[in-house]
Amino acid sequence: MQTTDPAVTVSRAAAALAQLVQFRTVSSRTRSEVDAGEFEGFIAALPRLFPAVHATLELERVNGHALLYRWPGTDAGAASRPAVLMAHYDVVPAGDPDGWTRPPFSGHNDGTYLWGRGTLDDKGQLVAILAAAEALLGAGFTPRYDLYFSFGNNEETAGDSAATAAALLAGRGVAPWLVLDEGGAVAGGAFPGVKRPVAVVGVAEKGILDVELLTRDPGGHASTPPRMGATARLARAITRIERSPFPQSMPDVTAEMLRRFGPHSPAPMRTAFANLSLLRMPLTLLFGRLGNETNAMTRTTVAITMLEGSAGANVLAATAKANANIRVAVGETVDGTVERLRKIIRDPKVELRIVEGNEPSPVSPSTGAPWRLVEDCIASVFPEAIITPYIMMGGTDSRRFTGICGAVYRFAPFSMDAEARGSIHAVDEKILLETLDRGVRFYETLIRKL
Ligand SMILES: [Zn+2]
Repeated sequence: MQTTDPAVTVSRAAAALAQLVQFRTVSSRTRSEVDAGEFEGFIAALPRLFPAVHATLELERVNGHALLYRWPGTDAGAASRPAVLMAHYDVVPAGDPDGWTRPPFSGHNDGTYLWGRGTLDDKGQLVAILAAAEALLGAGFTPRYDLYFSFGNNEETAGDSAATAAALLAGRGVAPWLVLDEGGAVAGGAFPGVKRPVAVVGVAEKGILDVELLTRDPGGHASTPPRMGATARLARAITRIERSPFPQSMPDVTAEMLRRFGPHSPAPMRTAFANLSLLRMPLTLLFGRLGNETNAMTRTTVAITMLEGSAGANVLAATAKANANIRVAVGETVDGTVERLRKIIRDPKVELRIVEGNEPSPVSPSTGAPWRLVEDCIASVFPEAIITPYIMMGGTDSRRFTGICGAVYRFAPFSMDAEARGSIHAVDEKILLETLDRGVRFYETLIRKL
């Protein structure tokens, strides 16, 4: 069907997403738990749903089930500005299906919403990209520069497919001018006092670090316990971590965000945000107390998870351990964080082991041509939104591309109210059909302007 009628594009996108949600592409760190058949089914469905894309674009598989498309541009000269649009199609488990209003893998379309796991995170974004490309191809459009779509299959488990895709492009000498992945969105009711929706574009993400804390003890019978056995020593370490939060600071990106909110905030905040140079420190301290989210914006955070000790009611623990899940603030390092943790615990008998550590990402600029292009496209499709850079608390596949691109942005062009944001990784995930429609329009606008 050769058409650019917006209504047709939308129904194609909705119909495609409804089908793609039905593949249970649940990712897991345990390979045997990944149902390869569902991933194969998903991949096999794409050419049927987006025939023009698959007739024109080159497609290769990366690392098994990740997909890398190349839409050849007309201008391959030295001044070429290739871009990469990203999404992922693996999803987190649906949890208890009885908790859902509509079955999680139904793709049920009730005329207003399309229901199911992955509609917002992140099959909806993948479909919006492909539907936009399909519509543009139908209108006879060819991009000026090479355009890549990189679709991940193991984002939810922090897998290595995106790293493989980035290495593949690097090996071919591709230096993207722009990379755009999931992350921020057009968020309604996200910031206290700011009435207009806020289009938050991630310019950086915190690092993720897991450190195992381990204590040892000869063990023995619980009727003759030693002083400061393995469990007590571990508990003291945890208490010390809890009592000594990491130092606070307000990153420049967060200050910039507050500046942009300023004119749209109620009077006292407006004044405060307009005088940030004077009030930066008091505001930072206030953020630490205001709530868990604002606190996390101003410092490295530590959450103690996976506590483990004695195996029996009357058995002393020979070892006790806990995991510290740490989100490393932008500008800090994994090594520096472990060093500080050691000082906070101040007990050489608590052994620290890095299980996995990812440095915080570099910060992409919130100025310059790639940023302005993203900003322009958001403004034209979401004129009601305040646009601002921000630092993401979570991780995305796009951090793997920061080595080959200086302008990596994290933004899904979807409006999400608090309820929608709360449904991600929870029950009743669903996308408004109108939201999907605007997502498609965003990518059409972006691809045309690239
Ligand atoms: Zn995601």
